[in-house]
Amino acid sequence: MTTAALSITQIENTHLVRCGHANWVLVEEGADLTLIDGGYPANGTDVERSIEQIGHQLGDVRAILVTHAHVDHIGGIADIVTRLQVPVLMDPLEVPHAKREYLQQLSPAKVPLLLWRRGAPKWLLDVIGAGALKGAELPRAQAFAAGGALDVPGRIVPIPTHGHTDGHSAYLVPEAGVIASGDALVTGHATSSVAGPQFLVCPFNHDRGATDQALDNIAAAPAGALFPGHGPVYEGSLAAAVEQARAGRTRMRP
Ligand SMILES: [Zn+2]
Repeated sequence: MTTAALSITQIENTHLVRCGHANWVLVEEGADLTLIDGGYPANGTDVERSIEQIGHQLGDVRAILVTHAHVDHIGGIADIVTRLQVPVLMDPLEVPHAKREYLQQLSPAKVPLLLWRRGAPKWLLDVIGAGALKGAELPRAQAFAAGGALDVPGRIVPIPTHGHTDGHSAYLVPEAGVIASGDALVTGHATSSVAGPQFLVCPFNHDRGATDQALDNIAAAPAGALFPGHGPVYEGSLAAAVEQARAGRTRMRP
């Protein structure tokens, strides 16, 4: 089992957990928790450790939200839902993806597009070690209810950000003024040579044009911090973060 170091940053009731090449988010409401994403297949026990580090236990999780069904976001959840009977919710368009009725993920055949990038060979070895090739699926995936705040701890509000995958969703935590942005907008990645708000490099995005358009919804959200799917916390204007990502969009190309 992995014993990777955890780095946890808190704003109000919301915690960004960074572990290896994966991030996930924990949202508190009293004794209850919502988990957003869960890292690679090897990260199930790391998710549980992160919950204990913020003073809770796994049984406090009342709901799991998914930004999108890539293996580095649902692998750890697949492990946890074998132990927890809680709803696993996502955008309606992402449900068949999470059930693996199809797969919108970088295929092994396209990995050579990345390997010239500094950091990519080590990243590849690391993520294979974290179970990337094992894959993951969520047979219990359900669509969240349309319209406004969800009935989950933290009263979290989905922000549609289709593009990285067809049903990608970011999540606004109103009490903290934080957006968990998944892979719609990140602040770093092992295959990127720059820091700060940015798109993931092109081969990771299923629909590059839609990925760009979706950032309008993040720029307009009432939040002052970004908890991304990869990279550290960003605090400041989200409109400025989106502008910075768009200014550097050439980095989306392989
Ligand atoms: Zn992704």
